[in-house]
Amino acid sequence: MARVYNFSAGPSVLPEKVLKTAADEMLDYKGSGQSVMEMSHRSKVYDSIIKEAESLLREIMNIPDNYKVLFLQGGAWSQFSMIPMNLMTKSGKADYVVTGQWASKAQQEASRYGEVNIVASSKDKNFNYIPKLDPSTFTKDADYFHICINNTIYGTRYNELPDTGDVPLVGDISSCICSEPIDVTKFGLLYAGAQKNLAPAGVTIVIVREDLLGNAMDFTPTMYNYKIHADNGSMFNTPPCYTIYIMKLVLEWIKNYIVGLEKKNERNINKANILYDFLDNSKMFRGTVVKEDRSLMNVPFVTDSDELNAKFIKEAEANGFVNIKGHRSVGGMRASIYNAMPMEGVEKLVEFMRKFEEENS
Ligand SMILES: *Cc1c(COP(=O)(O)O)cnc(C)c1O
Repeated sequence: MARVYNFSAGPSVLPEKVLKTAADEMLDYKGSGQSVMEMSHRSKVYDSIIKEAESLLREIMNIPDNYKVLFLQGGAWSQFSMIPMNLMTKSGKADYVVTGQWASKAQQEASRYGEVNIVASSKDKNFNYIPKLDPSTFTKDADYFHICINNTIYGTRYNELPDTGDVPLVGDISSCICSEPIDVTKFGLLYAGAQKNLAPAGVTIVIVREDLLGNAMDFTPTMYNYKIHADNGSMFNTPPCYTIYIMKLVLEWIKNYIVGLEKKNERNINKANILYDFLDNSKMFRGTVVKEDRSLMNVPFVTDSDELNAKFIKEAEANGFVNIKGHRSVGGMRASIYNAMPMEGVEKLVEFMRKFEEENS
């Protein structure tokens, strides 16, 4: 069996160990005689899976007790409207920083429900940097302040969080959840679609401070009300059972094999630097993002020729490096190197790039 190195931005590579455990447990989960796909979500055996998933996430991310952890559906996209419906309910205003397509979609969706102020944007340079923020431009009575912490398409990330005072900070961490330590107490709400760094597609994680619950707009659909899900332990209706189970296995993998997020971060920094160091020294390839804002998870890069880019992508695929074509809005290539991408995958990719450069210059 030959597995490729999968650099997909999402859905993306999962730890091989997790896939093997899932395969072993497919027909008979721990003596229950059933697959996790088949069991009732109200059964005792499933209850222990979802509770364990939550407790692992709380442990790994160091989530304080006054935050609820919700496992929802609808992807990060559904959060773009769920957040304003639940939070934009006092002044009816919110601040957004536009650092890419996802941040922009979030901002556009929110503006259907209230007054949105775009504090800053990096659109002028095709989102290749994180704008410096001036607190005097923040809306004093905003209901929240939204940022996208890792910008999956453009390959940027915040190194420093804005100081929003009493205004709750809301962060999209879809493509960086559990990739590095994050101080949850700095946020009112964090959310992530799981299919980048934590699980297959199908579960959306919301971490929300309890005092922000219970003020949803009157017309908010039941399924879009955080309080309903919080009061029912993410079991108001059928949760994405199997995806939550795989997420639990991934979280166990993170805990046992990476030993907490501090170690993970060191590993992710070292892993990304293998690629960035090569890009900085290459005469053919270059990264597209300003150095200080580079993402540890998504690394876009280009050559100066569209033909060479296409040739590289084709030959990379033939050599087992797949899904490396860049997003159409940046062009060129993008290597997404999430937690589950082994160090060896990045080393081999760099080796292949070096060889390609020699052969084509
Ligand atoms: C992928 C992604 C989204 C959209 O996620 P869906 O789960 O497909 O709705 C939103 N924000 C970021 C940062 C992403 O990477």
